[in-house]
Amino acid sequence: MSTPKILILGAGYGGLMTAVRLQKQMNYNEADVLLVNKHDYHYFTTWLHEPAAGTKDPDQCRIGIEDLLDTRKVRFKKGTVTEIKKDEKKVLLESGEELAYDYLVIGLGSEPETFGIQGLKEHAFSIRSINSVRQIREHIEYCFAKYKMEKRPELLTFIVGGAGFTGIEFVGELSDRVPELCKEFDVDPSLVKIYNIEAAPTVLPGFDPELVNYAMEVLSRKGVTFKINTPIKECTPEGVVLADGEEIKSSTVVWTGGVRGNSIIEKAGFETMRGRVKVDPYLRAPGHDEVFIVGDGALIINEETNRPYPPTAQIAIQQGENLAQNLLALVRGGQMKPFVPHIKGTVASLGKGEAIGLVGDKKLYGSTAALMKKIIDNRSLYILGGLSLVLKKVKL
Ligand code: FAD
Ligand code: NAD
Repeated sequence: MSTPKILILGAGYGGLMTAVRLQKQMNYNEADVLLVNKHDYHYFTTWLHEPAAGTKDPDQCRIGIEDLLDTRKVRFKKGTVTEIKKDEKKVLLESGEELAYDYLVIGLGSEPETFGIQGLKEHAFSIRSINSVRQIREHIEYCFAKYKMEKRPELLTFIVGGAGFTGIEFVGELSDRVPELCKEFDVDPSLVKIYNIEAAPTVLPGFDPELVNYAMEVLSRKGVTFKINTPIKECTPEGVVLADGEEIKSSTVVWTGGVRGNSIIEKAGFETMRGRVKVDPYLRAPGHDEVFIVGDGALIINEETNRPYPPTAQIAIQQGENLAQNLLALVRGGQMKPFVPHIKGTVASLGKGEAIGLVGDKKLYGSTAALMKKIIDNRSLYILGGLSLVLKKVKL
């Protein structure tokens, strides 16, 4: 039998973890493994709120993919996937090249969910890649510079739509950056407004109420104004229109109102819910035993709550670990093991030295939670790239 071709799409947490674990466990020439990614670097999606606000250099949030690979075991191709032809077992790249596979791993991450809200796609920024966060950071600086020339208050009004974890972490960073920007551009800090607008009756809906209150107190003190129970209805070049009719003028709207699976999955004809495929216990797409989905594109149900697990890096990494073992089992004719998530908790940053977290049933606040967040971030570096990646990118 010829060497099985394993094609991994996307070098995010799920895809990259599958690749690095495969290369660790696989012998040379056991399988022909090819990892394809849009960029020749992996970025740490979970850190992107920091470079978006300008509190961290974007380069600190990425690493060259080939730095993490033994290319004699896992080859890498820089390329953008445009189509998955599942019935032909082929993948089409933007370059026109077609790649054939015996086993396909889809780890293409997510896209912003805009719920059809008018104007969001056209006028709002989103935190989703190195390129997108560079653009947000540059735009914010430009607004400060422009304010000095034009004195229009909307240039200093920043709207963050959605107070889930991404929104909360971003306003935490932004409120840390504002004093620096005010100093740099000679702007009176009292003129800067940061609004975090949330449709649900509370920020971080579903999270522990005590921790939510703590987060709101910390962030309010740092200058964030929350508007809860107030869905954004429209985004325009001038700002946002809320469901109650209020208009807020702003030159910067960052949409953090949720995510859906990469649209390539839906376009390939897989059945999806918010762009995610309800995978079987081995992370396979129904009806396609050779197609595996990891990360934000995979939907798995939490049996305890009967609701989908939220898409997280924590789960994507664990799926990559499980899938690497299962692919190897397939190649060697062994038994696959079902994927069982082990949710260790959730810790969210509120900016420098502040965070909230729920680890097991233990609530963490303030500097303890912030320390835990750094430990988690450094741990994920270790899991993906060992000590050498930790040494290059460690968060102190
Ligand atoms: P990603 O890590 O997003 O990677 C997708 C990869 O696919 C990327 O490399 C991308 O370049 C590539 N790609 C996309 N389209 C194409 C294409 N057409 N062709 C080729 N390549 C393509 N989760 C946590 O568990 N803990 C946290 O603290 C946390 N913090 C977060 C903070 C922020 C600001 C954000 C935005 C998310 C956070 N999350 C967190 C969620 C977490 O980042 C995602 O769930 C996780 O990144 C999903 O992993 P993934 O492998 O599915 O996709
Ligand atoms: P989310 O879906 O978790 O939150 C989006 C928020 O936007 C929700 O609170 C929702 O009610 C609100 N919203 C939706 N429509 C709106 C509207 N029209 N107007 C105003 N608000 C609206 O999305 P996210 O925060 O981007 O997170 C995506 C995933 O990444 C989640 O699974 C999350 O758990 C994970 N994440 C985890 C961390 C962490 O663990 N520290 C950090 C960031 C993201």
